[in-house]
Amino acid sequence: MIDLHTHSLASDGTDTPGDLINKAHARGITVLGLMDHDTVAGWEEASQYLRTGMSLVLGSEISCQTLDGTSVHMLGMLFDKENTELAEVLATTRDNRLTRMSRIIARMNEAGIEITIDDVLAQLAPGATLGRPHLADALIAKKIVKSRDEAFTELLHNNSKFYISHYSPTPEDAIKLIKRAGGVAVIAHPLASLRGRTVSIESFGSMVEAGLDGIEVSHRDQSTEESELLRGIVDQYGIIATGSSDYHGNGKLNELAEFTTKPEDFEALEARANARRVVRK
Ligand code: AMP
Ligand code: FE
Ligand code: FE
Ligand code: ZN
Repeated sequence: MIDLHTHSLASDGTDTPGDLINKAHARGITVLGLMDHDTVAGWEEASQYLRTGMSLVLGSEISCQTLDGTSVHMLGMLFDKENTELAEVLATTRDNRLTRMSRIIARMNEAGIEITIDDVLAQLAPGATLGRPHLADALIAKKIVKSRDEAFTELLHNNSKFYISHYSPTPEDAIKLIKRAGGVAVIAHPLASLRGRTVSIESFGSMVEAGLDGIEVSHRDQSTEESELLRGIVDQYGIIATGSSDYHGNGKLNELAEFTTKPEDFEALEARANARRVVRK
C-alpha cells in the first residue's frame, strides 16, 4: 500500500517520525510519504527508523497562497534538501508563521480569550513548524475547547474572524521551486471545499504550465464529485493522480492508508524526479 501524504511531530502531526514509520509498517504500508508542513526536519529520523521492505518518500507540504488570497497546499516530493533556494523559502514561511500566530492570539485576547504565545509554543516539539493545530492544543490544555476539531470548527477555521494568513509563495512559484530542486509537485486536496475557498478549475492550466506533476484526487476532505472532477483534470493534462490519508496522528480522524496511490501512478511520479531519491530498506 502506498500512502504519500502524512505528518509527524516535525509539524502538526502527533507521532514522532519513528513512531509514524512503525505504525505505517504495522498497517501494511510499503511506500510512505512524510510531508510535514514547510519543513524537512523529520527526514533524518524517519530515514533512521525505516523498516525493512519499506520505501520512504521524503517531502514537504508547502503552504502557498494565490494572488487572490486562496490558501493552497503543494506537496513537494523527492527534492534535493540541499537546494538553498527552496530551503530559504521554507525558512521564511516558518518565520512568518510565528508572527502570524502572535497576531491571531492578539485578536483572540481582544475577544476575551485568555491565551498566550508561550501557551502555544509549549505545545510544539523542538524545531517543529508552528501551526493553528498547536494553538488548538493550547486551547485544549486551557479547557477552552475539547479537541482540535472543535477548536477549528468554533474558532480557527479559515473564515473565522481570528484567521490571518502568513507569507507563502504562489502555487506556480512553489511548483517551479520544487522542480528546480529536482523534485515532483503534487497539489494536495485542491477542491476540499469544506476547508474554505478553493482554487478555480482554470488555474490548473497555469500550474501544469509551471510543471505540476500530479493532483491528490482521493482525500477525505473531497467529495466523490470533487474527486471525479479532479480525475478529469488529471486525464485532460496527462498528469498523475494520487490518493492519500493526510494522517496527523491523533490530532485528526484521518487513518493511515484510508486512501492510497496506485503502484503505477507512484512509479510514474517517481520517474519525474531528476534523481532516484526514494529511501529504501
Ligand atoms: P495552518 O498550517 O496554521 O494554517 O493550519 C492548518 C492545518 O490545520 C492543516 O494543515 C491541518 O493539518 C489542520 N487542520 C485543519 N482543520 C482541522 C481540524 N478540523 N481538525 C484538526 N486539524 C485541522
Ligand atoms: Fe496539517
Ligand atoms: Fe494540507
Ligand atoms: Zn497535510
